[in-house]
Amino acid sequence: MGTVKSDIEIAREATMLPIRDVAAQLGIQEEYLESYGRYKAKLSQKLWDQIKDRPDGKLVLVTAINPTPAGEGKTTTTVGLGQAMGKLGKKAIIALREPSLGPCMGVKGGAAGGGYSQIVPMEEINLHFTGDIHAVSTAHNLLSAMIDNHLQQGNALGLDPRRITWKRVVDLNDRALRNIVVGLGGTSQGVPREDGFMISVASEIMAILCLADDLLDLKERLGRIIVGYTYEGKPVTAKDLKAHGAMAALLKDAISPNLVQTLENTPCIIHGGPFANIAHGCNSLRATRYALKLADLVITEAGFGADLGAEKFLDIKCRIGNLKPSAIVLVATVRALKYNGGVPKADLGRENLQALADGFVNLQAHIENLQKYHVPVVVTLNSFLSDTEAEISYVEERCRAMGCAFALSKVWEKGGEGGIELAQELLRTLEEKPSNYRPLYPDSMPLAQKIETIAKEIYGAAAVNFEAGVGRQLKKLEELGFGSFPVCIAKTQYSLSDDPKRLGRPSGFTISIRQVTVSAGAGFVVALAGDIMTMPGLPKVPAAETIDVDGDGNITGLF
Ligand code: ADP
Ligand code: MG
Repeated sequence: MGTVKSDIEIAREATMLPIRDVAAQLGIQEEYLESYGRYKAKLSQKLWDQIKDRPDGKLVLVTAINPTPAGEGKTTTTVGLGQAMGKLGKKAIIALREPSLGPCMGVKGGAAGGGYSQIVPMEEINLHFTGDIHAVSTAHNLLSAMIDNHLQQGNALGLDPRRITWKRVVDLNDRALRNIVVGLGGTSQGVPREDGFMISVASEIMAILCLADDLLDLKERLGRIIVGYTYEGKPVTAKDLKAHGAMAALLKDAISPNLVQTLENTPCIIHGGPFANIAHGCNSLRATRYALKLADLVITEAGFGADLGAEKFLDIKCRIGNLKPSAIVLVATVRALKYNGGVPKADLGRENLQALADGFVNLQAHIENLQKYHVPVVVTLNSFLSDTEAEISYVEERCRAMGCAFALSKVWEKGGEGGIELAQELLRTLEEKPSNYRPLYPDSMPLAQKIETIAKEIYGAAAVNFEAGVGRQLKKLEELGFGSFPVCIAKTQYSLSDDPKRLGRPSGFTISIRQVTVSAGAGFVVALAGDIMTMPGLPKVPAAETIDVDGDGNITGLF
């Protein structure tokens, strides 16, 4: 093994095409692009008007087993698979989420793929990009400012300061802001009340941006946001505060999908990036729709493991957007499976067939879960240099025995070339296996039963425990007219259960639902299972300590 180049070193060596040439590959003329420099562009509404009546291409979701510290590589696989399709002469588009600065400066470094399967310009995509997340933060904080101003100016709506649910946001990991008091300092400085910050991508506005059909639908949805309750318990909305028009104005450009390219010049639409716990964790519906009109094949990614990301993609995004996925690529790694089989992180580089067999149950659970949606599944092992042949064959045999297609992927090491086997297996699946996608539960099912269905069918729980008050909250949400909404469960990503330490395939456990709320603008009910963080903290040594820039503007330390 020679020295392995870092992601940013590889990215910097890329030969990028001007973005208009990437667009031209998709038959998009320059007049339909809003360029942000030479290598990034937004796709205009005018383009949508021109392509909207075309037939849709096929939609493929990339998801994974439960995340581990060993890394799974969903984004890397998504990008590599798109590049491989390009090598095979297929018209494919990749559709991803925009990275948040919180994880970028925290533990994760960048989020634009890895190795020879990345999207570029990597530094710009990871830092500020086209300003969409900035626009979400500003629209969010405008509403916060208008809430506090309403209290200051006499509180005509009777908003109870103790029951305001709308917090403030910043796109950084900053735990000191989780719980704060605002309005201190006297009568002209606002009304004192408890408040707090979330990370911007946890804002309901990000979820709305990702589910809205167009600017007018976005504005309507913003108006429906519930910011809190009156002293009588009546919801108060952004529309009641007359904030939604200005909020939509701030998001006018953010609603347009962004076009970039991979290291191999494959087109990639990257747009929106909601959390995969309290929100649905997929790129924007608009981006997916544009992509489906512009290519024969759209490869997209959902966050975290399949129990969260894929479940929400299938039960929330596809339902709301009326999308019909044709296949699912389920990513696993030998290392993560061994970790699920009880091997500590430091020993994952050594062959261990017993631990692999013990950890395989996690992959098995996700395969069985995805089969419940009647969409064909292709399992791929994202190959690490330390994997052995015996380990790879073991996983392949077990997957094939479950009726799943299987392919090894070397896209991290070799780019598109390393994804040919996976691309061919996927194309064969698309041709031979029909997708009869249907969501797990109907709209008409009562909310409590929706939660139970997800907990039992997907997580493998034996029962659901609704903690004190949750039954009443559910009843109130149904009375307010939200009973037909899908449910977005916020749960740890590390385990199928609500206990992050229970790896593999836990059984016999109870899922506890502590609280339910509604994202009325986004259009789903959020059920919190366990302690869910909407404002992450920085680790002892944040990634930010190693990020640097030289006098010419060259950035180092993003990985
Ligand atoms: P996810 O989307 O599942 O969070 P990413 O694709 O972003 O994962 O990958 C996480 C990190 O792991 C990236 O830094 C990437 O470079 C690295 N990585 C992914 N696949 C491999 C691999 N096969 N070998 C080594 N490192 C990898
Ligand atoms: Mg990712």
